[in-house]
Amino acid sequence: MSDVKRVLIVGAGIGGATAAYALRRHGIDVHCVEQAPKSSAAGTGICLLYNTVRALHSIDLAEPCLEKGLQFERFRQFDAQGNPIAVNPTQPGVGIRRPDLAQILEGAAVKAGVRLDFGVTVDEIMDRGDAVDVTFSDGRRGSYDVVVAADGAYSSTRRKVFGREFDPEFVGQSCWRFSAPRPAELDGFFLFRNEQGGTVGAIPTAKDSFYLFMLENSKEPMWMPDDQLHTLLKERFKGFTAPLIRDAIEQVTAPEQVIFRPFDVRLMPGPWWHRGRVVLMGDAAHAPTPQLTSGGGMAIEDAVVLAECLAAPGTAMQALEAYSLRRIPRVKRVWEASLQISRWERDDPLANADSTAALLLDTYRFLSEPM
Ligand SMILES: Cc1cc2nc3c(=O)[nH]c(=O)nc-3n(C[C@H](O)[C@H](O)[C@H](O)COP(=O)(O)OP(=O)(O)OC[C@H]3O[C@@H](n4cnc5c(N)ncnc54)[C@H](O)[C@@H]3O)c2cc1C
Repeated sequence: MSDVKRVLIVGAGIGGATAAYALRRHGIDVHCVEQAPKSSAAGTGICLLYNTVRALHSIDLAEPCLEKGLQFERFRQFDAQGNPIAVNPTQPGVGIRRPDLAQILEGAAVKAGVRLDFGVTVDEIMDRGDAVDVTFSDGRRGSYDVVVAADGAYSSTRRKVFGREFDPEFVGQSCWRFSAPRPAELDGFFLFRNEQGGTVGAIPTAKDSFYLFMLENSKEPMWMPDDQLHTLLKERFKGFTAPLIRDAIEQVTAPEQVIFRPFDVRLMPGPWWHRGRVVLMGDAAHAPTPQLTSGGGMAIEDAVVLAECLAAPGTAMQALEAYSLRRIPRVKRVWEASLQISRWERDDPLANADSTAALLLDTYRFLSEPM
């Protein structure tokens, strides 16, 4: 029997909510705290690759995602005017709106019996060796067999336990994103490139919606005024005249429709993603650039594997070591490939376009191997 009976999860994002639900399925008592005042259901869309859907399927959560989202099996490349350059079949993936995914994961966790507290974070963590004592921001205290840091790229739990030297670093790229009504011809992951090497991506998120993103390079992190995001976005997209992009851009009339975010990355070194009884998962352990649309998928896989390890017979330490050994090599390969693509896009996107497509497809093939 496992000696892990009580787990605290910090953060109810994609990874934390999935881990909470997966652990409850194994009969473990789960408390999850989320700093946001209510469901963190914000954002545009997300692509769940084949391996992500497979991981969700293993915990019976793939069906609701397939119902809400849109399944696709194509990776198509175009020039900025919308002329086709290449089409590649891929393993089937699903595009879904982020709020819909959050609702599915949080809803499943709560229904399974997870205690989920919004508007609460962790003030202090004290690993006593045989348990972890935690003081929360609302003054309450608790004691747990294991604490899971699922609090994202800027994880304050990681900083408390592992130190500031693992804070994420700006990678030289940022991303513009917005959602629009989906035209029927958008049947997969579309990439458009202009002659200067700029890239726009489009991913369906439901029968009637999709989201677009554009990457922007800069040496230093950029700051954008919140109230001008829609006009700044339109300037950025000027060179892209493909009808699908132009029609979508016309729908953008207010700054709240647009998200701008720099890419800050971090891969926690091995051999272990835990210190004592505090363990990292998702972006807290491995924040990638999003070129391979797999950061959320890696967080979901982490959740499934971590739950399996913590429920297996043995001690908490054995479980956390087994989790690290299973996850680090796989995640490292995907994280490094994401960063390589980001580097190629910054250096010479046109010269590297073929290498980029080849690495993307090769990594997708790798991801479809068993985790
Ligand atoms: C532009 C872009 C596009 C992307 N596209 C894709 C894609 O198509 N497919 C894909 O798989 N991935 C994609 N990703 C990556 C994906 O969004 C992340 O990898 C994923 O969200 C990581 O999940 P997580 O649960 O680890 O972290 P998060 O989703 O960041 O969740 C962390 C949660 O912890 C909470 N939190 C933070 N600090 C505390 C605290 N101190 N106490 C309590 N709670 C706290 C936060 O409020 C949040 O709810 C993309 C990322 C970007 C930037």
